[in-house]
Order: sequence, then structure tokens, then C-alpha cells
Amino acid sequence: MSHIDFKRAATVGVEDLVLLPTLNEKAIMDNLKTRHAKDLIYTSIGNVLISVNPFKRLPIYTEEQISYYRTHGKSSTTPHVFALAEDTYRTMILEEENQCVIISGESGAGKTEASKQIMQYVAAVSGNSDEMQRVKQIILESNPLLESFGNAKTVRNDNSSRFGKFFEIYFDRVGGPVGGKMSNFLLEKSRIVRQQEGERNFHVFYQICCGAEDDLRARLRLKSAGEFFYLNQGKTLERAGVDDAEEWRETVHAMGCMGIAKTDQQSIFDVLAAILHIGEIGFQAATGSDGTEKCTVKDKNHLAFVAGLIAVNVDELERALTWKKLEMSNETIDVPLDLQQCTNARDAVAKSLYDKLFNFVVESVNRAFGTKPYALMLGVLDIYGFEIFNKNGFEQFCINYVNEKLQQIFIELTLKVEQEEYVRENIKWEEIKFFNNKVVCDLIEGKNPPGLFSVIDDVCATMSKEKESVADVKMLDKLGAAHGGHPHFRQNERGFMVKHYAGDVHYDSAGFTARNKDTINIDIVLVLASTKSMFLQELLADIIDSAASPTSSSSGQAKKKSTTAGFKIRTQAEDLVRTLKSCTPHYVRTIKSNDEKRANYIDDARVTHQIKYLGLLENIRVRRAGYSYRNYFDKFLKRFKFICPATFPRPFRGSDKDACAAILDCAGGVLQRESWQLGTTKVFIRQPQHLFALEDLREEA
Ligand code: ATP
Ligand code: MG
Repeated sequence: MSHIDFKRAATVGVEDLVLLPTLNEKAIMDNLKTRHAKDLIYTSIGNVLISVNPFKRLPIYTEEQISYYRTHGKSSTTPHVFALAEDTYRTMILEEENQCVIISGESGAGKTEASKQIMQYVAAVSGNSDEMQRVKQIILESNPLLESFGNAKTVRNDNSSRFGKFFEIYFDRVGGPVGGKMSNFLLEKSRIVRQQEGERNFHVFYQICCGAEDDLRARLRLKSAGEFFYLNQGKTLERAGVDDAEEWRETVHAMGCMGIAKTDQQSIFDVLAAILHIGEIGFQAATGSDGTEKCTVKDKNHLAFVAGLIAVNVDELERALTWKKLEMSNETIDVPLDLQQCTNARDAVAKSLYDKLFNFVVESVNRAFGTKPYALMLGVLDIYGFEIFNKNGFEQFCINYVNEKLQQIFIELTLKVEQEEYVRENIKWEEIKFFNNKVVCDLIEGKNPPGLFSVIDDVCATMSKEKESVADVKMLDKLGAAHGGHPHFRQNERGFMVKHYAGDVHYDSAGFTARNKDTINIDIVLVLASTKSMFLQELLADIIDSAASPTSSSSGQAKKKSTTAGFKIRTQAEDLVRTLKSCTPHYVRTIKSNDEKRANYIDDARVTHQIKYLGLLENIRVRRAGYSYRNYFDKFLKRFKFICPATFPRPFRGSDKDACAAILDCAGGVLQRESWQLGTTKVFIRQPQHLFALEDLREEA
């Protein structure tokens, strides 16, 4: 792309939505649409970058582009993810402050692509010693690895991230990369055992089935993906344009780059195969002589093979899948599981194995980074956006809670930053009112009075012996009793509604308590804990620990009360918020152009909806309420010197600040004195139309 194209960009719609002549959602939509039609997918609101998914490869991520943004940096007026990356990276070095980029948007909107582009940019422009090259390789190679274990094809996105991630890159004082850290959130474990039509399990399973070499294939008894129950439920085996066998080689290569030893790689393959074969275990019921129904494993072949792969005793494994210990008042008795319970037990084994395996992969990235001291940090947050489905369960509740927290940070930090700048620049300004979603955060996470999470935890702790469906009903009653009068909460027949900042979501309470407890039967824990495999012992260390000291085993469960899923996500969210708040924030808000993944097409209704819940209008208003335009004195002078005889053609004799004052005085005919102020380093102009007036004068000059 030539430099002509960069210039052309400036003439399509407005590049900063703050400059829209009329402000409403339709005007925002029209502007994004006009630009999208010309492949200008980026637009800004002040320092917030809006990106509209083009669903086609644009030639805008080249080396040439990188060097353009590297030299033009902040003064570049063209919004681009590289301009944002440059600004983030430079600010980190110049201000010696940690930075974070918060990327939000719904599934398929382009969050992960944006995060990869930021990494690509930072890797390209930062230091080049051998050690730094090594760190950069980890940054770049960890992507395919994490995606193969954590991404899946869904109906919304062929490469959907089924986990949230916060990726920190660590630098020395002058911006050379020295390490990093990756934190993951809420892997969607249920996908391991169930996929809806049109969706796949995690990519890695299809990769190994397609790509494993003959000896591995034979050792692990791999079949084609379509033959495994855990892989074929969505009736979708392929991803358009992707060769799973080729990706398998990349995944294995990436494991090598992370320093995962060959023997550990083999162990990872064993666990993947064990999971696939677990899914093949079927059960049959028979009525015994005592009249009770007991289940056994149907085909012992798979069972024996699984037991071999995870190095446990085959009979103990069968027993754990078909029986359950039940604590009576003073004794423990074994009761047989029914068919459904056996299947649940089987699925629980698969889910926990994969969950731990995923953590291992994340940890291997962190191990590869090592723990050298660092001076500065640049973090990129790519976490799934707000979700509203027809049926919303505990997972959606957690995800939407995290988004609620991020919105809270957005409000606090954008306003805080805004306010701080006015203070720093010594500028007078008025505050404007906006909806502060703190009230919703408190409703969900509050301690006193106890918020929704606390009430749910409470029910889980006190009703551990009840049937799940009973506990769910009790939970709903308690939620209603505690928060019935809250303006953002309403109990209904099958669940409850939360009025989130992004919309009303009805949660179905069925399954909430079980998901929150997130425990597996002690019987299963014990058999897993007996594994002879060193690799699994390490992988399952926390499960094994809990089996060794089953403090709360009176409930027949192996986990302590405090480690509910809800507790974990709140703790993680708290940590994340603390980290993000200590950084200078940058925002990318991604918008999905349409649901058909079509290039050159904007679905007006879908885009308008996203504009609404991303709160873009509010964002623009806040930005405009103060001073919508601000720029450094030298930049302003360079652009507008033509409209004042004191600054052009001969240069102004005096400071840049005085020169700016002279220009603004010259424009007195179209610009009232109240509409601008000079700060200590920047010109502030209140309304966009005042800037337009200046632009007109410049054109005429
Ligand atoms: P999820 O929440 O499901 O993980 P996401 O927001 O991370 O979704 P991405 O995986 O980044 O979405 O993007 C979905 C798809 O959209 C990509 O695989 C790619 O085909 C296309 N896409 C996104 N951004 C761009 C871009 N800047 N240029 C070209 N294609 C893009
Ligand atoms: Mg993603």
C-alpha cells in the first residue's frame, strides 16, 4: 500500500467519531459503514480504537506498514491497530509506565486477531539481541499452541477462543523484551464432552487425528476424528481453509519452542488420546439378584486402554465410573450409579484431565519465559465479550460478570485519565453524568450485603448433600429473598434476570450450584490420584492433594468450600482489575460486521446493536463534554499555521504556545474565545464544529 492510501483515508467519513457533525447511533453506524466500504476498518473515539471486522485479508499489516507507524507514531492521524501498538509501546518507554490494551467485542468480532497484530508489531519494533529473539519467538509461537488447545470452531467463529487470556510482555527500561506471563480465565470445559451442531471440539483433537504419524497413531489407537464420539457430535469435522494435519505439525513445533521435553510431549499425546477413548466407554445396566440395578462398562477394551494410558488400575477405574461412596450418619456405603450418572462420571474424568492439560500448556509458556527481572510491562487482554444466548447458564453469568468489571474499569479509567489530563494541563472543565455500572458489580460480587455470588456459594456450602435440582431451586429462592427489590435484578420462574450495562440477561438457574461447586466425585479423584504416571501426578497435583486431605469429604466431595468456580473467577477478576488499574489503558473495541462472515457487507441492525451495548455513544459524549479535540502545540502549529499571517509564511518568533494563541486569535471570526483553551503542552478545543471551522479556514488559506 502506498502513502497515497494513507492520505486517502483521511477523506472518508470522519476518522474520529468525536468529530461527527450529528451525534446518534445511526450517524456512528453510517460513518463506520462508509469507511468499511473503502476497507478502512479502523476509526477512533479519542484514544479508543474501533475496528470493524472486514472478513478478508487486507494488505495493511505488512513490514511497510509497520515502519510507517513506527516513524509516524502518535502524530499519525490514521487510526490503525499498529498506531495503537506504537502509541502503547512508546508511552511505556517514554513515561516509564506499564501499559495495557483491553480488547473487547463479541465472538468473531476480531479480538484475537487484534491481539496478534499488537504482538506482531511489538515483536517487530523491539530489541534484537539473541535472548530477545528467543523471548519474541515465545511470544509469537505461543499463539498457535494456545489456539490449538484453547480454540474451537463454533457457529459464530471458526477459530473461537474458548478461554480468556491476559498476556503480559515484560521489557527492560529501554523497551527490549525480556520475558512475559500469560494468565488464562475460564476454559469452556463442557466442550470436551459435548458440541452443538455445526461446532467442533478443541482444534488439537482434530489435528492429532489428522496429523499424527503412523507409529504414534498406532500406539494411541487413533482413528479418524469422525469416529470418536467426543469429536463428531457437532457433525462438523473440518474448518474451511485449514489443514489440520499441517496445523498438527505447527502445534508440535510450538511445543518444542516452549521447551516442552519430548517425553512430556508424548505424555501430552497420551492424555489427548485417553480423553478420546474415555468418550468411547459405554455402560450397560443389569438388575442383580438383590433386585437393584447396577451398571457395568460395556466394552472393556476401551476401558483397559484408557486405564493403561493414564496408568491406573482398570478395575478401580470401572468401579469409580459406576459406583459412588455415600456418607451416611456414621458409615460410608457404596451405591451403584444409574446410566446417566455413569456417563456423567465418565465425562467428568475427561473434562478434568483436559482442564489440567490446558493449564499445563499455559504453564509451559510461562516456564519458557522464565522469571528474569523486568522494568516495564505491556499487557494485552483478549477475553470473551458479553454473551446473551437463548439459554444462559452459569458460564454466561461468569463471563458477563467479568465484562461488567471491565466496563467498570473503562468508566473509571477513561474518566480518570480525562480528568487527570485537565488537571495536569490546568484546564477548566465540567463533569458529565453517565451510567455507572458499579451498582451491577456490587449486586453480583458484593460482600456486605452478600451479592449473587455469595448467596450461591452459601447455598453450595450448606446444601452439599441435596440433589442438584433441589439446590438450584433453593438457590433461586434465596437470591430472590436477598435481592428481590434490587433495580437490576428480577427473579422469574426458571431463573433470574440481571440488568447488565449491555442489556438484560435471563439466567436459567438449572445447573448453577453444580457448576459453581465444580467438584468431581471423591471416587474418581482417588482413582486419578493413584496414577503411576509421573506426568499425570504433576498435572493432577491439586486434585491429588485434595484427595490426600479431604477435609470436607463429609460431603463426598473432594474440594474445599472456598474454591467454588464463582470464588475463583471473582479472585481472578480482582487480580486482573488490580493489574489493569496500575497500567495506562488503551482500548480496542471490535465490531462484528455480520454473522455470515461475509466480506464487504455490513449488517446494519447487528452493527447498531453492538454500537449500543459497547456504549460508543456514551463514550463519544464523555469525550465531547470536555474538550473533544486536543493536540500538542507543535502539531497544532504545523497544521494550522497557514491561517495566520504571524505564523505563515514566515515562522513565528516566540514559543509554540504563543504561536497557537496567535492562530486562534486570527480565527476569532469563527471561533469564540470560550471554545478553546491552552494547557501547558496542548491546545484544547471544545466542540468538533470549532475544529471544522478551523479546517475550513485552512482550506481557504
Ligand atoms: P472469539 O470471542 O470467538 O474468540 P474473536 O473476537 O477473538 O472471537 P477473531 O478470532 O479475532 O475473533 O476473528 C474471527 C475471524 O474474523 C478471524 O478468524 C478472521 O477470519 C476474521 N478477522 C478478524 N479480524 C480481522 C482482520 N483485522 N483482518 C482480516 N480478518 C479478520
Ligand atoms: Mg478470540
